[in-house]
Amino acid sequence: MTNKPEVNITASEEIALLKKRISELENLEIKRDEVIRILNERDDTLKSIFRVAPAGMGMIRNRIFIETNPLLSKITGYSHEELLGKNTRILYTTHKEYESVGEEHYGQITKHGIGSSEIIWKRKDETLIDVLLLTTPIDQQNLQKGFTFTALDITEQKRAKAALQSSEERLKVIFEHAPDSIYLCDLKGHIIDGNIAAEKMIGQPKDELLGKSIFDLNFLNQKDLIKVSKMLEKNAMGLKTGPDKFKLNTKRGEKISIEITAYPIEIDKNKLVLGIARDLTERIKAEELNRENEQRMAFHVNQTPLAVIEWDLNFKVKRWNPAAEHIFGYSVAEAEGKHASFIIPESEMSHMNQIWMEITLLKGEAKKTNKNRHKNGNIIVCDWYNTPLMNEDGDIIAVASHALDVSERVRAEEIQKVIYNISNAVNSNDNLTKLISHIQKELTPIIDTTNFYIALYNKETDSLSLPFFADEKDQFTTFPPGKSLTAYVIKSRKTLLANHNTIQQLEQSGEIERIGSDSKIWLGVPLKIENEVIGVLAVQSYSDPDAYSEADMKMLEFVSDQISLSIHRKNTELGITRALERATESDRLKSSFLANMSHEIRTPMNGILGFANLLKNDKLSEKDRQQYIHIIEKSGNRMLGIINDLIDISKIESGITELILSDFNLNNALDYIYSFFKPEAEIKGLKLSYSKALVAESALIKSDSEKIYAILINLVKNAIKYTAVGEIDFGYSVANDFIRFKIKDTGIGIPEDKHEAIFNRFVQANLKLSSSFEGVGLGLAITKAYVELLGGKIWIESEHTKGSTFYFEIPYIKGEKMKNTEEQQISVNETVKSKLKILIAEDDVINQKLFSYILRDISDDLTITDNGAEAVKEYTERNDIDIILMDLKMPKMDGYTATRIIREKDKDIKIIALSAFAMETDRKKALENGFNDYVSKPIKKVELYKAIGKYFDI
Ligand code: ADP
Repeated sequence: MTNKPEVNITASEEIALLKKRISELENLEIKRDEVIRILNERDDTLKSIFRVAPAGMGMIRNRIFIETNPLLSKITGYSHEELLGKNTRILYTTHKEYESVGEEHYGQITKHGIGSSEIIWKRKDETLIDVLLLTTPIDQQNLQKGFTFTALDITEQKRAKAALQSSEERLKVIFEHAPDSIYLCDLKGHIIDGNIAAEKMIGQPKDELLGKSIFDLNFLNQKDLIKVSKMLEKNAMGLKTGPDKFKLNTKRGEKISIEITAYPIEIDKNKLVLGIARDLTERIKAEELNRENEQRMAFHVNQTPLAVIEWDLNFKVKRWNPAAEHIFGYSVAEAEGKHASFIIPESEMSHMNQIWMEITLLKGEAKKTNKNRHKNGNIIVCDWYNTPLMNEDGDIIAVASHALDVSERVRAEEIQKVIYNISNAVNSNDNLTKLISHIQKELTPIIDTTNFYIALYNKETDSLSLPFFADEKDQFTTFPPGKSLTAYVIKSRKTLLANHNTIQQLEQSGEIERIGSDSKIWLGVPLKIENEVIGVLAVQSYSDPDAYSEADMKMLEFVSDQISLSIHRKNTELGITRALERATESDRLKSSFLANMSHEIRTPMNGILGFANLLKNDKLSEKDRQQYIHIIEKSGNRMLGIINDLIDISKIESGITELILSDFNLNNALDYIYSFFKPEAEIKGLKLSYSKALVAESALIKSDSEKIYAILINLVKNAIKYTAVGEIDFGYSVANDFIRFKIKDTGIGIPEDKHEAIFNRFVQANLKLSSSFEGVGLGLAITKAYVELLGGKIWIESEHTKGSTFYFEIPYIKGEKMKNTEEQQISVNETVKSKLKILIAEDDVINQKLFSYILRDISDDLTITDNGAEAVKEYTERNDIDIILMDLKMPKMDGYTATRIIREKDKDIKIIALSAFAMETDRKKALENGFNDYVSKPIKKVELYKAIGKYFDI
C-alpha cells in the first residue's frame, strides 16, 4: 500500500474516505480476528495434519529441526525431543552426503521453489533407509525463514521396485535369449513382439516386422496361413493350440520346418497370443540320421554271417538275427525269450555261467571260444564276442554277443595237428604196431576209432596183414583179401563209406563176401604211396549207423596220405634197420665163412698135395697108388664143388645170372638125377626112389634146364648127405600152372627156427647142425636164388631128427616138341657104350690126360691135338670125327678161329667148347660162334657126359 500512487482528493472525499477507512479498518479488525481465527483454525488443521500426516514432516531453519511430527520420529527412530534443535546432519551417513543433499535442494528450491530427491538416511539404530525428501521454503522470498520438509520412507517401495525391475529384466533376458522363437501377436495376427531366436529364425530384424500382420508377410504359404487363422480362432476362445507343423520361408530364402505351440494370453486386458516356434531342421536331420542308422544297423545285423544275439539280464534271448538262425538252427520265434542253455551243451554250462558273471558283474568284455549245440543236436564250435550294454548311469541293461561258427576252422586245425602228430609219431614209435596204435589215438578226437584197423597189402603174395586191429567183436592178425570189404577198397582204389544196406547190396551182387561181424557202418580209405595202394585204413561201428558221415570220409581221406607216408616211412626205416642187421649179420657170416672156407679149401688141398707127394714114390703098390689117386680125385672134386658154388653165388650176387629158356623133357632130368645119385646112395645104404607125374610127351616144358638140374642136384645131394639111414624120395606133381617138386629124406632134419636161415648165404657153420658134414653153406642159397629166378618159391617142412622135405614150385610152361636127336635120353649107362670118334684140342697136358681118362668109357678112338690149327688139320684129314672138344684159349690158333674154319666146311659136326672162364657170357659167346655146347673147366665127367649125351646115345 505504501507504494500506492498519490492522487488529489477532497475533504469530504477525505472524510468519506476516512469513514470508509474506519469501516474498512473495523472490517479489517473483524477480518483480522477472522483471519486470526481462520489462521488458528488453519494452524490447528495444519498441526493435526502435521501430526497425522502419513509422511515424516518437519521444519528446519539453518538446517536445525524446529518442528517434527511423530511420523518422522517413527521413520528416523529419534523422538521429537531428540530431533528438536538438532542439526539434520544426524540423519546422514556422511557429511558429504549431508552437504550434497543440502546443496541440491537449495539449488532446486531457488529454481523451482521446491526441492526433491531420493536420499539415504541413517536411522538412530544405524539402519539405512531410502527416503523421498521434499523441501519447500516457508517464505519463498526469504529463505532464511526456514523450510518445511516431508520425508517418505520409500525403502520398501524401492525394494519392491528393484525386485520388480530385476524380475522384469530376468524375464526379458529369458524372453530374448530363449532358444525357441517366441513371438507375441494379437488375435488378428499382428506381430507385437518377438525374441532374438525369432528374428534369427525368420532372418529379419524385429523392427521391420512389428505391427505387421502374419497374413501380409510371405513367411507361410497359403495352406499354412489357413492353419494359422484356425489356430488364432481357437486362441481367441482361450485355447492352446499346437504343436502344429509349418513350412517357413525365411528371409534368407530357405524353407525350414517349424513347429508352433500357441497360448492365449491377456496383457492389459488385451487378448493376445504367445507363440513358441521351434526349428525342426536339426530334429528332422537327427531323426533322419537315426532312421539311416537304424537301417544301416538292420542291414548289418541281417546280412552279417555273425550271429548277433542280445540277452536280457536273465540270460534270455532278446534279439536273434538270421545268422543266429543259421548257425544254431532255431528261428527267431523259437529262440526269443529262451534261456541260453538251449544252445549250450551240459558240459559247458558251468563254464558259461562263469563267463556270464564276468560280463554282468565285472562289466567286462569277453572273447571266448566255446562248444555249442545246434538244434539238430550236433556240437559246433563258436567264437563269441560278448559285451555288456549299459545305460547312462553305467548300469547294465543287456548283453550283446556276436558268435561265429568256427567248427570248420577248429576241425581243420585239429586235423592239421593230427597230421603233424602222425608225421612225428614215426620217430617216437619203434615198431609198426606201436605207430599205428599211436595213429589210432591221434585220430580219436576227430573220429570214432573204437573199431579200427589198418590192413597192409602185399602185392607179391596178394595177402593182407593186420599190424593193428582194435575191435569190439573180432580179432584178426591176417586175412586173405578174397572178397573182403578191405579188398574191395584195394581193388577200387577208392574210399568206401558203406552202411548196412550198401554192404548187403555189395554182398548180394557178389562183389564182396563178409568176413567178421556185421557192422552198422563201415568206412575204409585206401592208403596210397605214389599212387600204389599199400593198404587200407578202416573204421566201423556195430551200434551207430550214423557214426561216420561224408565229412568224416573226406577228413579221413585227407589224413590218409600222411598215414600212408608215416607207415611207409616206418616200414622203410624198419627195412633199413633190418637190412643193417642183415648186413651186420652177413658181415659176421662172411667172416665165419672165410674161416670155414679156409678149412674147407685146406682140407682137400692138403689131400691133393699130400697124396700127390706120396705118388712120387716108385715103390708104391698099384693098390695104394689107386687109392691115393682116388683120394686126390675126391679132394679135387670137392675143391671144384666149392669153386663152382663160389662162382655161382658171386654171379647171383652181381645180378648177372640169366635165364636161358629152352624146351626140354622134365622126366629126362629126373631120370638123370636118379642115375647120377644112385651109386652114391647105394654106397651109403640108402634107398633112392623117384616119381614122375607126367607121361613123357607132356613132360616137355619150357624153362632153364641148367638151373633145374642144379636145383635138383643140390637138394638130392643134401638129402643123401644129411641122411644116415632110411630113404630118399623125390619127384614132382603138377597143379594148375605150377610144377611142384618134392625131395624127401629121413635124415637129421632141421629145427623149425632154422627153416628160413638155411636158405641164407654162408649159413652152415653157424647153424651147428652139420658140423660133421662138409660144405660151405652156399648150396641152398644158390638153389633158392635159382628157384626165384625161375619165378617160383622154395620152402621146407621138417622136424629135427625126423627128416626133411624140401618143396619148390616153378611155373608150368609147356614146351614144344623137340627134334629126335634132342629128345634122346641122357643117361649114363655104363653097360651100353657108344664108341665115338672124338677129337680133342687142348694145350694143357694134364687136361689132355684127364680127358683121355674120362672119355675112355665112351670112346676107343680119341685124337688129342695141342692147338686149334692141329685140330683143324686132324679133322680135315680124318673126316670121320663125331664130336670135337675144343678148348677156347690155345696157342697158335684159338678155339673160336678153329671152330669157324671147321664150321665153314661142316655145319653138322658137334663142337663143344671147353673153357676155364665159367661165366654165362662165355657160354653165350661160344654158342653164338658156332659151338653146339659149352662145358666149363675143370672138366667134370658128369657134365661132359651130359653135354655129349645131348647129341649121342652114350
Ligand atoms: P652145405 O654146403 O652146408 O650143405 P647148404 O646151403 O646146401 O650148405 O645147406 C645149408 C645147411 O642146411 C646145411 O649145412 C645143413 O645144415 C642144412 N641142410 C640142408 N639140406 C638138409 C637136409 N636134407 N637135411 C638136413 N639138413 C639139411
